[in-house]
Amino acid sequence: MQNPSESGDYWVRGFLQLSEQNQKLYYIGCSNCFSKINVEAGICYTCALCNKEVISCLRPIVIMSVTDYTGSMEVVSIQNIADQILQATPTKISELQNLVNIQYG
Ligand SMILES: [Zn+2]
Repeated sequence: MQNPSESGDYWVRGFLQLSEQNQKLYYIGCSNCFSKINVEAGICYTCALCNKEVISCLRPIVIMSVTDYTGSMEVVSIQNIADQILQATPTKISELQNLVNIQYG
């Protein structure tokens, strides 16, 4: 796998694996620009990045290792691509991960 130095869209065919098996598959962020924030979901605030009045919400995120015959690289997927991979809403995922943490903590 070549290390692209320019931003853009790239096609990679390889093996996907979660970087950490117990990673949190959602974060709380701005409803407009996806920036992360340390508040609970559903809080109204002015986003420091996009400078808009927004409501904090759960956002999907998947950090994966992509490996092909030339090597591997770490990829962070958010929103639409993470939705396609996870095939569940961030709310449902947080419920499931919290349930697992309660049972197997
Ligand atoms: Zn924002």
